[in-house]
Amino acid sequence: MSDLFSLSGRTAMVTGANTGLGQAMAAALAVAGADIVAVGRSVPDETEGLVCAAGRGFHFIEADLGNPGVCGDVIAAAKAAAAAPDILVNNAGIIRRNDALDFTEDDWDAVMDVNLKTCFFLTQAAAREMLGRPATRGGAGKVINIASMLSFQGGVRVASYAASKSGVAGLTRLLANEWAAKGINVNAIAPGYFSTNNTEALRADETRNRSILERIPAGRWGEPSDLGGAAVFLASRASDYVHGAILPVDGGWLAR
Ligand code: NAP
Repeated sequence: MSDLFSLSGRTAMVTGANTGLGQAMAAALAVAGADIVAVGRSVPDETEGLVCAAGRGFHFIEADLGNPGVCGDVIAAAKAAAAAPDILVNNAGIIRRNDALDFTEDDWDAVMDVNLKTCFFLTQAAAREMLGRPATRGGAGKVINIASMLSFQGGVRVASYAASKSGVAGLTRLLANEWAAKGINVNAIAPGYFSTNNTEALRADETRNRSILERIPAGRWGEPSDLGGAAVFLASRASDYVHGAILPVDGGWLAR
């Protein structure tokens, strides 16, 4: 059974791995046996420590993922420094909050570029590598997109975030349709409400914090480590027949 979830011999690329959910998923993938290539704009010293403590290799590729033009270079740099990824976790993401009537083009473009456009073009560049080599154990590759509750719901005051995360869900299904028969599993994790930088403003607002907690059947905010199991599952042979799924990890939020 443990072999089913083993990532030994695999290289996992995780974007935005210096903090929050990306850091926790990188650590979990490393514990399951994967070497980690972290991609982002902040040096992920803490994550490197966690990955090395698990006995796995670690490389950092500095890139501003707000510029989708970097995607080809990021995959080339991974190949040069370590290996092209067997597993890609599109985690980097941002949020901007404002009333729809006042929402600016800058807040629209910035969020769409990181959360959706780069997600697509980095996946395209990675998939070209995954498909260009002999199938490794468990298939050609695994892509895990990070969606959101706003892949299912509308939210308020987060127009570009809701559009981008609904787009991530659609993109996950489209890519699964195109690539399932080629040996690439494309799936998404939809985190509920987790304690990270991304949700600091919500947790600081006493009223919003209370109303969010009241709706979560598990009765608490998610901790980043709560995502580890889902990430390892979708990265491993255990999920070989899972394609195009958007897996909520939400303490039951969507069930209410
Ligand atoms: P976070 O702590 O703010 O982490 C976001 C990560 O993305 C950071 O590593 C950040 O790097 C990176 N990033 C942002 N813009 C970037 C850019 N232009 N270039 C390179 N890296 C960039 O937030 P998080 O909660 O862990 O979010 C991770 C993912 O989960 C996001 O896609 C988010 O939408 C999603 N999500 C989070 C929740 C939640 O409750 N927290 C719920 C649903 C979905 P820097 O540190 O350098 O900014």
